[in-house]
Amino acid sequence: MIRVRFAPSPTGNLHIGGGRTALFNWLYIRAKDGKFILRIEDTDKERSKKEFVDEILGSLTWLGFKWDEIYYQSKRFDIYREYAQKLLKEGKAYTEKLPDKPGEAIIFKVMPQKIKIKDLIRGDIEFDAENIKDQVLMKSDGTPTYNFACVVDDALMNITHVIRGDDHISNTPKQILLYEALGLPLPAFAHLPLIMGMEGGRLSKRTGATAISDYRKMGYLPEALVNYLLLLSWAPGEDREVIDINEAIKLFDITDVNKTAATFDLKKLDWMNNQYLKSADSEKLTDDIIPMLIEAKCIDKDNFDRGYVLSLVKLFQPRLAHVNDFVDWADFFFLKEVKMDPVAQAKCLSKDFSKEFALFVQRLDALQDFTVENIEKCFRDMMAELGLEAKVLIHPIRVALTGKTIGPGLFEVIYHLGKERSKERLQKWIR
Ligand code: GLU
Repeated sequence: MIRVRFAPSPTGNLHIGGGRTALFNWLYIRAKDGKFILRIEDTDKERSKKEFVDEILGSLTWLGFKWDEIYYQSKRFDIYREYAQKLLKEGKAYTEKLPDKPGEAIIFKVMPQKIKIKDLIRGDIEFDAENIKDQVLMKSDGTPTYNFACVVDDALMNITHVIRGDDHISNTPKQILLYEALGLPLPAFAHLPLIMGMEGGRLSKRTGATAISDYRKMGYLPEALVNYLLLLSWAPGEDREVIDINEAIKLFDITDVNKTAATFDLKKLDWMNNQYLKSADSEKLTDDIIPMLIEAKCIDKDNFDRGYVLSLVKLFQPRLAHVNDFVDWADFFFLKEVKMDPVAQAKCLSKDFSKEFALFVQRLDALQDFTVENIEKCFRDMMAELGLEAKVLIHPIRVALTGKTIGPGLFEVIYHLGKERSKERLQKWIR
């Protein structure tokens, strides 16, 4: 049985890199009917926080990565002590008392030798133990070090594949020495390539290493984020980018992960999110958007027309890059006063369109069957009579009605605003 683990330290939120590591572990076992173990590495009592544990669990759940078992290292100190004692007894470790610290540290003796990692992604990597210092197993305060607790746990939890970021590659030879000293079987290792920011260098907060929960707040769909994370180090083939997770599960193998560093590109993520938003279930999207509209005071929580919101969600869906964009883009459908963008106004409404607007108001008023097609026909007939190109008025009318230069098709906007509100808003610009 294949068993993998994701082992976050709750000293911070789950970021993009951690999300990708979790994904590749989870994905790997799905098709193989293996188990996904979650191990909270909370040995650092000062820096580990319950709020980070909650945030990490929440983000993993939101991404859809269900774990089969969960362990907390803070509850396993007795186990680590027992194994350290074993190494002491066998003469493979020694104790050391630091002058200013209570208690004794237990330290592992590193013997000169060559260490070979057989990495499933990177191939064989050789290390020389000459370059590895003796390793602290248990600190003088009784807490285990990362490398030691990690080896004991990976062995006791029967982990068959250790899949983690390649920032841990220098830990792997140290861990291999510990497996050997403890007489425990080695798992297979797979180190995922680095994720870089767009400007080169490691992904940093500035270049997008924001918490997964922040992406959630920014209006990304979990399916889109997962699909994007997948492409960071793997390709489904045939230039495909949008791929259903169930299909990815079937196609994915850890040995097909790229060796080279990945680049985190927010624009690409936005594109991906739009791909998913386009085809998202409109009813569900409406459920997500309603609280945002309430918060933005676009609708009253106890008195709004869900059908109207739904029709607008459908209208905007093809264009949305983030769920939250809806509130910014569609506010004019809800607010009494249009929030006018001064740049749009200067660009499109500085000329006097009183005559044209007045005529269009008249035509709209006379329109019997207020449909998108009829509104368009009414507009185009008028422009033909005036001998003007459509674009001369399309933008000024749009800005007058919406306060913005971008949005869905003008005739759809007029249709959804309704005859009265459209007339009223145009009338404001008739001098
Ligand atoms: N707690 C370590 C980390 O968050 C885990 C590394 C590992 O997967 O071994 O980086």
